[in-house]
Amino acid sequence: MNGLREECGVFGLWSPHRFEVARTVYYGLFSLQHRGQESCGIVVNDDGVFSEYKDLGIVNDVFTNERLDALGEGSIAVGHTRYGTTGQTDRNNAQPIVVNHIKGGMALAHNGNIVNSFELRQALELQGSIFQTTSDTEVIAYLITKERLTSESIQEAINSAMNKIRGAYSLVIMSPAKLIAVRDPHGIRPLCYGVTEDGTYVVASESCALDAVSAKFVRDVDPGEILVFSRDGIESIRDHCGSTDRNICIFEYIYFARPDSVIDGVSVHSARVNAGKALAQDWPVDADVVIGVPDSGLDAALGYAYQSGIPYAMGFIKNKYIGRTFIAPGQKQRERMVDIKLNVIKDEVKGKRVVLIDDSVVRGTTSKNIVQKLRDAGAKEVHLRLTAPEFIDACYYGTDIPDSKNLLAANHSLEEMKEIIGCDSLGFLKKERLREMIGEKEARGYCSACFGDGYPAGRPQTNGKYRFERKLSDKDE
Ligand code: SF4
Repeated sequence: MNGLREECGVFGLWSPHRFEVARTVYYGLFSLQHRGQESCGIVVNDDGVFSEYKDLGIVNDVFTNERLDALGEGSIAVGHTRYGTTGQTDRNNAQPIVVNHIKGGMALAHNGNIVNSFELRQALELQGSIFQTTSDTEVIAYLITKERLTSESIQEAINSAMNKIRGAYSLVIMSPAKLIAVRDPHGIRPLCYGVTEDGTYVVASESCALDAVSAKFVRDVDPGEILVFSRDGIESIRDHCGSTDRNICIFEYIYFARPDSVIDGVSVHSARVNAGKALAQDWPVDADVVIGVPDSGLDAALGYAYQSGIPYAMGFIKNKYIGRTFIAPGQKQRERMVDIKLNVIKDEVKGKRVVLIDDSVVRGTTSKNIVQKLRDAGAKEVHLRLTAPEFIDACYYGTDIPDSKNLLAANHSLEEMKEIIGCDSLGFLKKERLREMIGEKEARGYCSACFGDGYPAGRPQTNGKYRFERKLSDKDE
């Protein structure tokens, strides 16, 4: 409940049958809705002919029965839920992106962020490419298309493009005859695949989407791997595997992913419970009740309660039904958005010393509002514990964590933050606990750059979400 927005969710399937592929993608996207609520889209492939529908809004609003029927039948399909970290909230920027070229069509859905997209786009534009969107995904699509013109196969084109792209990318790509899953060599964003009883292969950002379509989890796509699903079976290309360390985004476990997902062999729920236990050990306090801020704070609140022996209670009800028709509040009301989304169950906190578990603090405004809501409901004390360490740097890999001048922890001491937020005590997860949180059974690398640990895939020279939105002064008249 930190005001950060998720990045994107990708979903794709290859089926030996032609049965309800659009609906299957719809159910998959429904399970990935938490990863992006700005726009969504589905593209169905009927023997090389692509039908697409994309629009602004959540899956439930965008896809009616009629729209799903209009997509027709096919044997391959891809889908996407988007929160854009590069480019405006614009229907044009909705994904999957479809490209038609001399060797056929391609549809591509992307989760992540490319750090050298500005330079790549400039080079492509100088060679005559004309871009329709302002998202970095189109840069990947054009780069693969360009390579495809001189390659034997789509997978060879992707392999060549990967030599040029830097940053975070989990992709599902559809060619006329193939479904392809790609994960960047650092494995920053999650991607996994499974198979249904009827032999349909399903690729998704998170395993919860496989469960939603009754697909059995097979495995995660490895960092740097290209996986091709076609009538010839499954082909794994590993030219980029092992060229770098694994660097899964640690914030996937803390906040982005659904707790019922398992990423790179680690249950998101268990990781959050572990974080809660660590907080109870490192930041103990005398209190009457532990409550979590929905959704990401709930599992960690359980962990804190298990470890401390303090009773767990349900302190909040979250309103999840904020769809496309919801009228966004004006600037003045925006800070009180928490009132619309979250309400306190007063009987659970009135007259009590409360341990409040949330995921993170960005600017501090949301935390301050939540603490105040508990005080208004009669809480005697509020002790805030965060399952993320202090944010001190921006994210360039697909999350809208702002730069350090807008991050509370980058500019204030713990004591100052406690005063600003208005809580009785404050404790962040210690950085050395992160590895423990995701288990130490095997050496699992992770990205924790926003906590000050350096950027595994580099950082952009030219940055800003709207870097491709040029003003008239930047263009020829
Ligand atoms: Fe995740 Fe932070 Fe790394 Fe971004 S910088 S990928 S949010 S850990």
